[in-house]
Amino acid sequence: MASIALLGVPLDLGASRRGVEMGPSAVRLARLASRLEQLGHTVVDTGDVPVPTRETLRLERGIDFLPTITGVCRDIAQRTAALVRNGQLPLVLGGDHSLAAGSVAGVATALAERQQRLGLIWLDAHADLNTPTSTRSGNVHGMPVAHLLGHGDRDMASLAQPAPAIRPEHVVIIGARDLDQGERANAREFGVTIYTMRDVDERGLRAVLGEAIDRVSDGTAGLHVSLDLDFVDPREAPGVGTPVRGGATFREAHLAMETLWDTGRVVAMDLVEVNPVLDEVNHTAELAVGLMASAFGQRIL
Ligand code: MG
Ligand code: MG
Repeated sequence: MASIALLGVPLDLGASRRGVEMGPSAVRLARLASRLEQLGHTVVDTGDVPVPTRETLRLERGIDFLPTITGVCRDIAQRTAALVRNGQLPLVLGGDHSLAAGSVAGVATALAERQQRLGLIWLDAHADLNTPTSTRSGNVHGMPVAHLLGHGDRDMASLAQPAPAIRPEHVVIIGARDLDQGERANAREFGVTIYTMRDVDERGLRAVLGEAIDRVSDGTAGLHVSLDLDFVDPREAPGVGTPVRGGATFREAHLAMETLWDTGRVVAMDLVEVNPVLDEVNHTAELAVGLMASAFGQRIL
């Protein structure tokens, strides 16, 4: 059984639609901790990382809030690194996906201290491969993967010790169905493997995820799973920051989580982009908690 540490990140500065800063509360209200405890895990809630309120900030020069978000990510990285050193499994509750530039960097840092590398499974409708120069929206939540690979803004790209946090052969993006032109070019240039929803449709989630797990497990000591709730189809998960039609079904999402638990290799998890403002009576947060139960060992039989 795992020793799971919840860490809330009420961050919305990386997104243009407001509301994801309430995601950690919505997921806590949907009884995440007790659900995981029922599965036999030890769960501690370490509270929230302090995040400046948007209304207190001036618009910074350049990309919206990039220096502020980088500061929050540095704090997150220190916390996830400390948790992993302490034998705990960070479960990071977002908040927008830019937080993963910190959460993954911290876990990679703790593994690097043991001469180990980290694999990354990124479940998302988007590839989050933009950089401050390639972005069209200016939203930092579309950039964390690029920064974890060492591209983009120098400060944000160097949060891991040593940087970059992740090698391109150790990251796989699954569920993508909305990439812009810059991200397609970056995916090729950075050497990232992407399984789109077409791959899931044609080959099935089990085959795609199995191949992805094999790939990111080769030469790594553990897996960080970064789950953007927009991986799931908006019919099931309407309360997300950036909904895109044609996503994973309810069962595909659960199968993904069950399969990841079966690997026994997951060392950290992000659960991000839950947006209660766009949700229907906390349906999406409850779905998220159900997915976390599957990710941490709940079985049908
Ligand atoms: Mg994302
Ligand atoms: Mg997304």
